[in-house]
Amino acid sequence: MAGLAVSEPVIRIAAFLLIFGSLAAFELWSPRLERLEMTGALKTRRWLTNLSMVLISSAILRIVFPAAAVGAAVWAEVNQWGLLRWLGVDGLVAGVLSFVVLDFAVWLEHVASHKIPLLWRIHRMHHADTGFDVTTGLRFHPLEILLSMLWKAAIVVALGAPVLSVLVFEIVLNATSMFNHSNIRLSATTDRTLRRVLVTPDMHRVHHSSERDETDSNYGFNFPFWDRLFGTYVPQPKRGHEAIDIGLTAYRGAGPARLFWGLMLPFRKS
Ligand SMILES: [Zn+2]
Ligand SMILES: [Zn+2]
Repeated sequence: MAGLAVSEPVIRIAAFLLIFGSLAAFELWSPRLERLEMTGALKTRRWLTNLSMVLISSAILRIVFPAAAVGAAVWAEVNQWGLLRWLGVDGLVAGVLSFVVLDFAVWLEHVASHKIPLLWRIHRMHHADTGFDVTTGLRFHPLEILLSMLWKAAIVVALGAPVLSVLVFEIVLNATSMFNHSNIRLSATTDRTLRRVLVTPDMHRVHHSSERDETDSNYGFNFPFWDRLFGTYVPQPKRGHEAIDIGLTAYRGAGPARLFWGLMLPFRKS
């Protein structure tokens, strides 16, 4: 399994490019909303910023924490660490359990990012995007990426999560983040069916509404269960998707589409 850690970046980049390319093409072919932010010159500006942000975040992560979550799983395996190992749970059961627990941990982290002022300072950069498309799913401040990786690595070691399940989780999380932010048109039936097991773009768009009660809802990335279970599920935006106001009311104009503005946002007063 240690070999997986070596080829992890290659597998992840290949999966990323395939999914990103497919969703970007789908957005051009059948967009859900046709607004200036998602079609015109502002789209180009936003894409450059959001894609630069993911490059910077990934580079910093590789420098600060090169082993990442998969490396943490390898460490736990080598040192025979983790609750699942001590309880004698292994194989497919351990893999599925780890995936579900990691998804819940990411949901919890997202809730904390909205409730704890210091974390919100960092996370609001994601919400300040005035558009909502595949690149929004990649727009996370480097500090958020680092904190998130530390949190996931701690869960992985505490659980003794299998290396393969951590690798699959990381690829799926990246893929679902791009999917549930994508500006793609899905039929109402497809959305309803998918929503039983997966967070859809219509569900996550509610989370990007500028109405605070809607911003503080639908925290899920992969599974929609946690929001339903803990009462934070809001099925549709009050204004409807066509009229939804995306972004944060405090940050309008060209600022949110600029890279340096986004990088400095956590250090700016609320
Ligand atoms: Zn959020
Ligand atoms: Zn989002």
